[in-house]
Amino acid sequence: MIQAAVIVPPSMDPRLVYDREANAGYGIVHPAGRISYPPLVSAEVVSMLQGYGYSVKVLDLSRVAPYEGLQRIKNLPPVAVAAVNTSLASWWNDTIFASSLRKYHPSIKIIAFGNGLTLMPARYRHDIQPYDSVAWGYPLGSLPHILTDSITCSLVGCERLQTPPNWGAFCLDEYSFLSIESSSGCHFGCEWCPYPVVQGEYVRLKDMRLLKTELTTIAEHASKGTILQFRDPLFPCSRERMEAIFSLISLVLPAHIAVGVETRVEYLDEDVIRDASEAGIRNINLGIESGDPFMLSATKPGIGSMMDAVTYLQRANRVMQDCLEYGIRPFAMFLLGLPGESEQSLQATVDFAKSLPDEIGRQASLFIPIPGTKIYKKLGSLADSALSSVLRGRRRAGDPIAGVCDVSIQTLADAKEQIDSPGNPRSAIPK
Ligand code: SF4
Repeated sequence: MIQAAVIVPPSMDPRLVYDREANAGYGIVHPAGRISYPPLVSAEVVSMLQGYGYSVKVLDLSRVAPYEGLQRIKNLPPVAVAAVNTSLASWWNDTIFASSLRKYHPSIKIIAFGNGLTLMPARYRHDIQPYDSVAWGYPLGSLPHILTDSITCSLVGCERLQTPPNWGAFCLDEYSFLSIESSSGCHFGCEWCPYPVVQGEYVRLKDMRLLKTELTTIAEHASKGTILQFRDPLFPCSRERMEAIFSLISLVLPAHIAVGVETRVEYLDEDVIRDASEAGIRNINLGIESGDPFMLSATKPGIGSMMDAVTYLQRANRVMQDCLEYGIRPFAMFLLGLPGESEQSLQATVDFAKSLPDEIGRQASLFIPIPGTKIYKKLGSLADSALSSVLRGRRRAGDPIAGVCDVSIQTLADAKEQIDSPGNPRSAIPK
């Protein structure tokens, strides 16, 4: 049996934590101590390698100190292949780590993988040292080719795994919440969003038997008080499907696992919210994006006019009130600093957010251009030089870029501080 290792690298700067799953796999950098996603793509890769007959050792070093991480790879037992989970946000950090892996084990075949590597523009792909290969596309489609052909692969857009991710290989009780996907893809095409780029614009549904097996594994491994977050870009995609998933949740998950979902305001009404509550859903993340009707009508697909935007904000208010009445905590998520943002539109968003009752969680993110998205292309060299700096470790992936809109970065940061729920122990899980 061939020996392989699946490795999630540590942060080489102990003040930071890298979340490689956020932003559809582009990743994000947080100050240490923030919540991070459990590595779903790594769990899928473990499952895939085992399906191909590999014996797999898992090293999830994402929360260990850099020195300990390096010691652990120094003592790695002999393996033929090391698959390293990376992302664009953590590319520089993970390259430094993989260089040490190469130094300690010169003959191992080292492969980089991560869903968001699809977003790496082609001109950056020539320099892959110290990796032997990089799975640019979805690793579940590209890794088998790399393993058999010794090539750097560019296969993209494959379907997700047809066996459940191997969560049992990870210490799930070290994560404050778990994640699951019951579907992938989104047809809304928001200009800033990487999900349609990475996952495609057509929605694909996971087979219900596969979902049941995955939920059962999570029920076995999750500790009390765990939050299980459905990370489908669109949940639910239809009433029928939603009811089937709610039945499954009621059947398989114990009451001590709280379930969260993320969806659009338009998909919710009182009936749906009541059913969600009865199924055990305890939080719903809603991408409100802006409290300013002009910004909404200019940037949010499905909102064609200022009047639509006003109606949308009223509906968002009603939906969040209904959630509270049925025992679900809504999280309103805002995006600040898109092109077109002005001091007036920013203030409208702050006012809208602050008008929400305290029980409603609030989280604002500062816009960053992600490669492959429509806005990234529009911003041209401004966005590209920012990405270049991220890949060379000269700036943090989540830092906003000056000059995208008419508002200064300091003003955006001040607005974010006003919007974010004060002392919120668990702010909305980042997308
Ligand atoms: S609806 Fe959500 S997931 Fe879909 S494109 Fe817009 S922001 Fe992205």
